[in-house]
Amino acid sequence: SEERLAHAQKMEALGQLTGGIAHDFNNVLQVIVGSLNVIERQIALGRANAIDRPLAAIRKASDTASSLTNRMLAFSRRQTLLPREIDPNKLVAGMEEMLRRTLGPQIDLDLRLDCSHWSVSCDPSQLESVLLNLAINARDAMPQGGVLRIATADLTLTAESSDPDMEPGDYVEFEVTDSGVGMSHDLLGRVFEPFFTTKPTGKGTGLGLSQVYGFVKQSGGHVRIESAPGEGTRARIYLPGRTPLPSPAAQDRPAVEEVHS
Ligand code: ADP
Repeated sequence: SEERLAHAQKMEALGQLTGGIAHDFNNVLQVIVGSLNVIERQIALGRANAIDRPLAAIRKASDTASSLTNRMLAFSRRQTLLPREIDPNKLVAGMEEMLRRTLGPQIDLDLRLDCSHWSVSCDPSQLESVLLNLAINARDAMPQGGVLRIATADLTLTAESSDPDMEPGDYVEFEVTDSGVGMSHDLLGRVFEPFFTTKPTGKGTGLGLSQVYGFVKQSGGHVRIESAPGEGTRARIYLPGRTPLPSPAAQDRPAVEEVHS
């Protein structure tokens, strides 16, 4: 859980870094565009010899911009992706302590780990940070406290039971439901936009749900959010079920994989 906390802090740092960089980058671009305007004007006036200063400003701004992007690249390279087979219930159960600490005593965490058939294949720390993002949004939606339910379940879609956006197949469902303030239809329509936030500056980056969206798309899954003002919010993530989980009886014996790893 120490490692998980470090990861959560890293994600928060990434959010702050990205938000900060976007802001600084915008400032730098304004310097460049403004200086280009000056150069164009001087040339139009036949004063091509008077462009040293705006050129120097562009040079300096470009250097700043490249150091900003280098900082961002250096950070993202450290976020290695290591997909593996994951037992959904174990992953969520392993987050419990960290979640309770993050949510505080006002929030009643209700874990319902009912997935028993399928493992999922993805980077566990990414899945954890996606669930953490949803849990933090749920917490923020319940300033007076409330109930936060995190559930796992198996879901099989047949040709008849599937809908237009989800192909038939086996899925693991991760559900995060809160009893918080909920969202209007218009707000709900914008939540996946990067940098869209209704939280005060310094609290929200608007990157939480865009990260969730990016992760599920990359994992071949789906995300659905249902909400209404005053009625709480239910977020569901569906990831493709990969291989059958070992049966409970088989879990009592030492697993073959353990001998070889
Ligand atoms: P952030 O949390 O930094 O604002 P997100 O992308 O995670 O960024 O969320 C975007 C916005 O969606 C939030 O600012 C909030 O208005 C709304 N939102 C997300 N989750 C919930 C929720 N569980 N209940 C109510 N509103 C939510």
